[in-house]
Amino acid sequence: MPLKYRSLPELRRDIDTCNLELLSLVSKRAKLAISALQFRDKVTDDVFEPERQLEMLATLVKANQGPFSDDKIVSIFREIFQHILDLMSQERKTTLKVHRKQGDPDQIYEINGHKIGDQPIYIAGPCAIESEEQLDNVAKVLRQHGVIFLRGGAFKPRSSPYAFQGMGERGLKVLRDVAHRYGMVSVTEVMDPRSVEMVAAYADVLQVGTRNMYNYPLLRELGKINKPVLLKRGFSATLDEFLFAAEYIVAGGNYQVILCERGIRTFTKETRNTLDISSVPLLRKMTGCPVIVDVSHAAGRTDILEPLVAAAFAVGAKGVMIEVHPCPPVARSDADQQLTPEEFVKLKDNIHSYIMGNLPSD
Ligand code: PEP
Ligand code: MN
Repeated sequence: MPLKYRSLPELRRDIDTCNLELLSLVSKRAKLAISALQFRDKVTDDVFEPERQLEMLATLVKANQGPFSDDKIVSIFREIFQHILDLMSQERKTTLKVHRKQGDPDQIYEINGHKIGDQPIYIAGPCAIESEEQLDNVAKVLRQHGVIFLRGGAFKPRSSPYAFQGMGERGLKVLRDVAHRYGMVSVTEVMDPRSVEMVAAYADVLQVGTRNMYNYPLLRELGKINKPVLLKRGFSATLDEFLFAAEYIVAGGNYQVILCERGIRTFTKETRNTLDISSVPLLRKMTGCPVIVDVSHAAGRTDILEPLVAAAFAVGAKGVMIEVHPCPPVARSDADQQLTPEEFVKLKDNIHSYIMGNLPSD
């Protein structure tokens, strides 16, 4: 039954008013949904609740008196709900504890008197700790050349269960002793939530590897300790997923998260992973956490590390991670991508020229 009007302009005035009322209602509806976020857990609760949505749609269908069919009503409201859910996800990101609010400064963590997040640093050392002699050989040279952060894996996440799995706790002791010997800060990976306490007893910075970025029990356990956590980006993780992984740690009360871009999987075969360099400035905008770049695992080769390090520093990385082994060809893991200590020193010396735009000729 058409509504009675004396003229089209008059009818159109009502249409315009109706549009404005719809706009005001849809905006109010969105604001209500956003307000509901305060009653939900930021990390664990999904903004989308299918049961609630079904319930709302059923109520609407029941109340529907035409002219739209029930199907159309469902389709219109689903569209509205989807846009509101998008807004809620967006809003939730801005309320995360890791989120950088406007004007927030860069975070700087202090470890045994050494800073991370301030001047760019190098984190270097072998892929895996293989022996005290091996680690000592590397650490000595690194320290002589101003490197403070010593890396080395005692628990290695290997694709094959038959490959060298690391020295375990014996490796942690070696790392602790060598780091103490040279006054260095130790960085090592932890894979199992049950080992967090033990690894934290030996090491200064605990690393979460790319495969474990989604290991939420591990992240929660790391939220309980009072040591920096170097969180690597999952090789297929979006930046949002990366941010939420960091939030798991921060939500537990440990704010000392270092984000590490280490390359993601793409179709490129020439490198082991593809270094997503744009993630560095993006993560720096999104969070106040120091962002570093692991060039070794990104490239999976040694011949392009210098430009990658230069690129990382150029886009604002607060550090780079580089694998260094006394004799890469016999390394028990990642033999193709480790530099010798001498090659590392050369790279470090050359970086300054790269940054100044004065590229050394090949
Ligand atoms: C590592 O740094 O030793 C390592 C295994 O790296 P990723 O987790 O990035 O592969
Ligand atoms: Mn490695």
